[in-house]
Amino acid sequence: MRYASLGSGSKGNATLVESGDSCVMIDCGFNHKQTVSRLQQAGKTAEDITAICLTHEHGDHVAGAKLFSKRYGTPVYMTKGTAEALKDIATQVLIEAGEVLCFGEMALTGVAVSHDAREPCQYVVEEKGKRLGVLTDIGFACEAVLKAYQGCDALILEANYDDALLEEGYYPESVKARIAGDGGHLSNEQSLGLLKALGFNKPHALSIAHVSEKNNCREAIISLFRQHFGEDVEKMDFICQQNGMQWRTLA
Ligand SMILES: [Zn+2]
Ligand SMILES: [Zn+2]
Repeated sequence: MRYASLGSGSKGNATLVESGDSCVMIDCGFNHKQTVSRLQQAGKTAEDITAICLTHEHGDHVAGAKLFSKRYGTPVYMTKGTAEALKDIATQVLIEAGEVLCFGEMALTGVAVSHDAREPCQYVVEEKGKRLGVLTDIGFACEAVLKAYQGCDALILEANYDDALLEEGYYPESVKARIAGDGGHLSNEQSLGLLKALGFNKPHALSIAHVSEKNNCREAIISLFRQHFGEDVEKMDFICQQNGMQWRTLA
């Protein structure tokens, strides 16, 4: 399997996972024009997309989903809660957390997470015994999440904010509390804690996602994660809001 990102952050998220003829887009958070041009950058067309799997209804994950699905008839998988929030996607397919979705040789398992959306669900993608965990927009990792992401061979993981930068920043206190709360996002510290809890020791297979442009910086993440990875910390990838991440192979 191979995977790429069209971009990640508060201005839009979309991840591609591909095996054989099947190419699944996890989230469709850029407007239609952007989605199509970013797909082109990744060497794909809209027609290549087998299905869209949504994680939750926040705009940075669904902005382009309605028009894309309408124009190309692409099935859009989502939980009931997400569907209730979005209402008008004609090609919706309802799923439940824990359900396994098969596309060719890829199997996507939905994992319920804590985030301030109706029924958020992240995904673990498995193909030929290799597993990629995609995990963003999560306030904290409960036991069930740790179990679901245990043993992943590669991770796309959120490190949203640096505690000090968020605290010092100009966001209103209510917004700061939302971001740092159980229904918000993972701080760098929490993200590192999760990697430690998972025993994930493969910085070359780690892609850092959903990094806040206001409350975080790469230097803060690298210096903190160095505790866990040592000098290999330099092998981590950062998914850029503007340019996403090129294809990476997991075999
Ligand atoms: Zn988001
Ligand atoms: Zn969100």
